[in-house]
Amino acid sequence: MKGEFELIDAIRERFRAPQGTLGIGDDCAVIPRGDGLVTLVSCDLLVEDVHFRLPQIPASELGWKSAAVNISDVAAMGGTPTAMFLGLSIPEGMDEGWFDSFFDGFKACSERFGTALLGGDTTASQGGLGISVTVLGQCPEGQEIRRDGARPGDLICVTGTLGDSAAGLRLLEEGLQLPQDASLINKHFHPVPRISDGLALRGIASSMMDISDGVASDLRHILKASEAGATVDVSALPLSVELRNCCSRNGWDPVGIALEGGEDYELLFTVGPEKEKDLRVPHTVIGRIDAEKHLEWRGAGRDFLGFRHSI
Ligand code: ADP
Ligand code: MG
Repeated sequence: MKGEFELIDAIRERFRAPQGTLGIGDDCAVIPRGDGLVTLVSCDLLVEDVHFRLPQIPASELGWKSAAVNISDVAAMGGTPTAMFLGLSIPEGMDEGWFDSFFDGFKACSERFGTALLGGDTTASQGGLGISVTVLGQCPEGQEIRRDGARPGDLICVTGTLGDSAAGLRLLEEGLQLPQDASLINKHFHPVPRISDGLALRGIASSMMDISDGVASDLRHILKASEAGATVDVSALPLSVELRNCCSRNGWDPVGIALEGGEDYELLFTVGPEKEKDLRVPHTVIGRIDAEKHLEWRGAGRDFLGFRHSI
C-alpha cells in the first residue's frame, strides 16, 4: 500500500465534487447553501495506539482533543463551527467512569466554541478504541480561506509556537517529562483551535490550513494546491523557551521537531505584501512564496518531511 496522501489523491480522482462544491483536498469541504453562506464539513479519526495511548492521556483530555482537532479544521477555513457528530467504536471492558471524564472534556471544548454535539454512532470494537468526529461550520460564500490561494511574493506566517506538542509527545513516549515541561505536555493534550484568529484572517490571508502533520508536510499541501514554491527561513521559526530548554536538556534538534513533529493545531497562512499592514492576528513570518516550484529551508542544510501515516 502507498502512503496516506497517495490514497487520498486516488480517492479524489474517483469522486469528483459537483460544480460549485469544494470536495476532497482542503481542511473542510465547502458546500453552498444558496443563501449567501456555505456549509463547511470536516471529519477526523483518532485511533488508539495510532493517535493516542489510553494509559498516557487522561480521558477528559482525549475528549477535549477529539473535539478540538476537528474544530481546528473549521478555523483553518476562517469559519465558525456550528455542530459536531461523534462516532465511537468501543473495545470490551472499558469503564463507565472513563467515559464520564471523556465527555466532560468533549463538552468543555464543545461549549467553549459553541459547537453542539448533535448526533453520532456507537459500536463495539474488536480492536482498540476509535473516535470519529465530524464537524460542521459556516462562512459567508467566497470568504472561506482555501489552500490554493498562495501567490509568489506572499509572506508565509504561523500563529503561536511550533513543536511544543511534538516535544510533549516525545517526552511522554520516552518517559522523560519534568515539571518544567508541563506546557509542552499541555499543548499535546489540550490544543486550542484558533477560531478567532481564523475569522480575523478572512479577507486578509490568501491561503490557510491548520498544522496537523508539521509545517514541513503541511506547507507542501499549500504549495501543491497553489502551484507554487517557497523559501522558509529556519532561523525565524517561533520556538518557545520551554521547547528550547527541553531540547537542549535532551539533546534534541528543536528545528526538526518544530517542522516535522505535527499536532500544533496552529494556523499556517499566506498573506500578500499589500495586506500585511491589515494583519491584526499575532503571528510570525517564517518565509515567502516563490514562483519556482521548489522548497528551500534556508539556514538548515537539510530537507524536512513532516509526519505522514503509512498505510
Ligand atoms: P486534515 O489534516 O486537514 O484533516 P487530511 O490530511 O486528513 O486533512 O485530509 C486531506 C483531505 O483529504 C481532506 O479534504 C479530507 O476530507 C480528504 N480525505 C481524507 N481521507 C479521506 C477518505 N477516506 N475519503 C475521502 N476523503 C478523504
Ligand atoms: Mg487541517
